[in-house]
Amino acid sequence: MISDCPRVRFAPSPTGYLHVGGLRTALYNYLFAKRNNGKFILRIEDTDRARFVEGAVENLISTLKWCGLDYDEGPAKGGEYGPYVQSERLAIYKEKCEELIAQKKAYYCFCTPERLTELRERQQKTTNQSKYDKHCLNLSKEEIADNLAKGLPYVVRLNVEPDVIIAFDDIVRGHVEFNSNTVDDQVLLKSDGYPTYHLANVIDDHMMKITHVIRGEEWLSSTPKHVLLYDFFGWEKPVFAHLPLLLNPDKSKLSKRQGDVAVEDYRTKGFLKEALLNFVALLGWNAGDDKEYFSLQEMVESFSLERVNKSGAVFNVEKLTWLNFEHLRNLPDAEVLQALRDALADSEFKDGVYTDEYLLHVITAMKERVSFIKEYIEKSPYFFKAPESFDADVIKKRWREDTPKHLAKLVENFSALVNPVKEDYEQALHKTAEELEIGNGKLIHTIRLSVSGMGVGPGLYDLLVILGKDEVISRINKAVQTIKIQ
Ligand code: GLU
Repeated sequence: MISDCPRVRFAPSPTGYLHVGGLRTALYNYLFAKRNNGKFILRIEDTDRARFVEGAVENLISTLKWCGLDYDEGPAKGGEYGPYVQSERLAIYKEKCEELIAQKKAYYCFCTPERLTELRERQQKTTNQSKYDKHCLNLSKEEIADNLAKGLPYVVRLNVEPDVIIAFDDIVRGHVEFNSNTVDDQVLLKSDGYPTYHLANVIDDHMMKITHVIRGEEWLSSTPKHVLLYDFFGWEKPVFAHLPLLLNPDKSKLSKRQGDVAVEDYRTKGFLKEALLNFVALLGWNAGDDKEYFSLQEMVESFSLERVNKSGAVFNVEKLTWLNFEHLRNLPDAEVLQALRDALADSEFKDGVYTDEYLLHVITAMKERVSFIKEYIEKSPYFFKAPESFDADVIKKRWREDTPKHLAKLVENFSALVNPVKEDYEQALHKTAEELEIGNGKLIHTIRLSVSGMGVGPGLYDLLVILGKDEVISRINKAVQTIKIQ
């Protein structure tokens, strides 16, 4: 049973960009919340000062906003359980940590970095596992007070009892058990006074009343530490769901080396938010049938954590490109029009003047042939400028000595047309072919080449109607003058 109003959170560390795996985590949390009338919370986990990146939080928020994953509570928005940025909650962590120390569930550790290095090296030689040896657990009250008074740097560690089984149930992975001997006495509070991820994460999930923790599998090995913390504090644990790893096509862990991992990179490349969301949703989840195309609303309606699978999900950019094609086709024309105008303003055609009507015709003609907005320009530049060159292979294959004569006759027949529509061009072409006693094909390919410079494109008569009679005639004449066969 899912509680009445489940509360879930996306808790990224601001690294400077939103990783596609992070987007998937955010999306699953969002879908789960929307599906179950819950709340989706954004919490910034910025306690690692060494990794602080200027502007990273703003970037994260704006990328989530671009994706359309609005959060109910979080930075810049507020909510009952704020602040939602961990660096603004330091006093809370310190106080809670002191409670643990008082109960001996955590302890001060004054070990120097040199001692820790020496310990690690020694352990690696013998046991191959490096764990803190609880040296400081045995310090007397007086020694601790003395060290603190002297201002010695310290950390606070979790006091993990040996030889116990730490167990929890995970919606995705089922029953999970860890032997506490494999769990280190994790640092909870660092020497700079900041909490580690583990301490802050558990305290915040509790205080923000998070009911379900939905996050990537890379955090599974941290979960026993969290379970211990919940138990030590005497708090109820949330439900856990660890999402499968994202893999490169060669099944290695998804890495920057094999392609882009930042949502921002995909956005810059022209992927639509609809396609990206649909794509990341399928990385580990399916609706129980083979449906692959989903709008955000459809995903909300079908999502459940029970349908998330354990095995790693391969990140396949071809599939993303296919989804982009599908979502682009289904985007309302008005949106495509605006995006095309933006793309034109950024292109060599920025000074061209095109009416909405003209561009909408171009969109209709090219819709089935483009996967990206920019391809409206790259694949059919001839809608924006007469061709200056002509495809050499098509010339070789189609252009004969008598082509200029054929096209001259065609121009004559086209000239006689008044406000021609598709059928008028078609009839005029057939008539020309008959008069010349040649097949239609001889004309079809050479006109296309003349008006577009290319051998492929939308339906020929659509192309002619969009360009308009005068432009068509002028382009054919120019092609006849330009194209020379060897
Ligand atoms: N701050 C962690 C991250 O960067 C959060 C992990 C979790 O959701 O617990 O992904």
